[in-house]
Amino acid sequence: MSSSTTETTSPQGFSLEGEAYVEAIIERYRQYVNPGLARLMQFGGFGDVEVSAEGCVLTTATGAQYLDFLGGYGVFSVGHRHPKVVEAVHRQLDRLPLSARTFFCEAQALLAERLAQLTPGALQFTFFSNSGTEAVEAALKMARVATGRTQFVSTEGSYHGKSMGSLSVTGREKYRKPFEPLVPGVTFVPYNDVEALAEAVSSQTAAVILEAIQGEGGIIPAKPGYLTAAREICDRHGALLIVDEVQTGLGRTGALFGVDHEGVCPDIMTLAKALGGGVMPIGATIATAPIWERIFGENPLLHTSTFGGNPLACAAGLATLEVIQEEKLVQRAAERGEQLLAGLRAVQQEAGGAIVEVRGRGLMIGVEFAVKDVAELTINGMARRGVIAAYTLNNPKVIRLEPPLIVTADQVDTALRAFREAALEAISLLEGLEESVE
Ligand SMILES: *Cc1c(COP(=O)(O)O)cnc(C)c1O
Repeated sequence: MSSSTTETTSPQGFSLEGEAYVEAIIERYRQYVNPGLARLMQFGGFGDVEVSAEGCVLTTATGAQYLDFLGGYGVFSVGHRHPKVVEAVHRQLDRLPLSARTFFCEAQALLAERLAQLTPGALQFTFFSNSGTEAVEAALKMARVATGRTQFVSTEGSYHGKSMGSLSVTGREKYRKPFEPLVPGVTFVPYNDVEALAEAVSSQTAAVILEAIQGEGGIIPAKPGYLTAAREICDRHGALLIVDEVQTGLGRTGALFGVDHEGVCPDIMTLAKALGGGVMPIGATIATAPIWERIFGENPLLHTSTFGGNPLACAAGLATLEVIQEEKLVQRAAERGEQLLAGLRAVQQEAGGAIVEVRGRGLMIGVEFAVKDVAELTINGMARRGVIAAYTLNNPKVIRLEPPLIVTADQVDTALRAFREAALEAISLLEGLEESVE
């Protein structure tokens, strides 16, 4: 963590500076946002206020600079404030930020066309929304109407969002239970288990929903053949295959889409996080023409969103897709991913049994610790060394590393050094504690 001159000029014109400013903002989180979350963030080593960011580097109110190896859970694939995305959004901002909702919108038309060109198979039409969970909601509604069936098969540990429908297919009891009854008819099977999937899918199944790599489940890549098998199982029963690429999409895994590793074509694909280029929120649900005919054929307004497909978000999306292509970010994700994986595996060797596994694809990488507390302490230790990481929501033993795809080899080395020191420190600290207890 390097300290430089503080730059705390508040965009809201707030008068305090430095530590007093930080305390005043955190106090408002305690009073008006979420006290428990405030505690959690401070405990994690993030008791500071973000002020600005560029590329892979985030600057806080106390003047500290961090390498962002969380990347907004996959939001910042082209980095923070990529000039091309910022410029495209500025251009649109100065003309027409939000749609008047009666006329046609250029940015939406062009982005839908581009997505149809880039996505695999017969995926053609796009419904735009504002987040990942909305993209999944739309996918579930489409699957029901398109098949006339009501049942879904999802996987344990999966994450598809926290609105009622998406939550209903999210594979973690802890987040579902308090809100039951949820959408009925969902069966959960273990991820990567072809037999269990084959057994769960029937002629009642509207769709199977899967991630190409389980993100919040602990960065668990699909085993070779799993997605292909899922495709075959769906076809056998006339069920649709929804692949949730909200986190894996647009280069993150070293392929443009997670399904590209296997050449599998889903019937419905969801995108969000990276699509807005780290500048605008956007969600997208892309499906085939026959599905579109079923859902929108009679009533083109059957599913809508006021802000979905707005000009600012679509301008950001178009610019983002251009940047990913121009800067060869898919290939760079694969290369930097290899470097990061190799470096982490070397630390795993040093750590004895404390690090159970290092896994992932491209720049979607997870490190599984034997003990949850070691993972937490490592995240904290990395933060103190100026590198941001986080654990996965459904599996706190796993630290996830998802830096922007523009990350350089030097930045990867810097993060690896911080990880090594923090992990070894955390391991010896907890070993010491255990001994003193004994
Ligand atoms: C983040 C995520 C979502 C939910 O996206 P939000 O924008 O937070 O609603 C859904 N699916 C996957 C795979 C995700 O990683």
